[in-house]
Amino acid sequence: MNTLHEGGCACAAVRFRVMAAPLRVGLCHCMTCRRIHGSAFGVYAVFGRADVEFSGRTQAWRSSAEAERHFCPVCGSVAFMAYLDSPEIDVPLGAFDETGVYEPAYELWCRRREPWLPRGVRTEYEEDRPE
Ligand SMILES: [Zn+2]
Ligand SMILES: [Zn+2]
Repeated sequence: MNTLHEGGCACAAVRFRVMAAPLRVGLCHCMTCRRIHGSAFGVYAVFGRADVEFSGRTQAWRSSAEAERHFCPVCGSVAFMAYLDSPEIDVPLGAFDETGVYEPAYELWCRRREPWLPRGVRTEYEEDRPE
């Protein structure tokens, strides 16, 4: 399969390449995303597990009943979030080598959004995305 885009962690010990378009792209204001990024929100492109290839070792912790958060054990960068009951992974947009690769279409956990961020730019959900 062809590589469409590449990226990696801050120290380059973990690298990835994506070989298909994402299923969806969204921004998340939840407390876990805020804390793991140390930022006001997280932005992720969601891919089918088979469409992203990683090199380098990651470490993981269970962030909820449904998901594990993987990170680079050398530099601590967020690598991806993997769902335990679905073959999808969330890859952070900030880890891609280029800018402008994808644009988020929706925002999750808007009740945790910083008040200084603009509203009404894309579809907003107060909490998680409805099924
Ligand atoms: Zn690293
Ligand atoms: Zn989140």
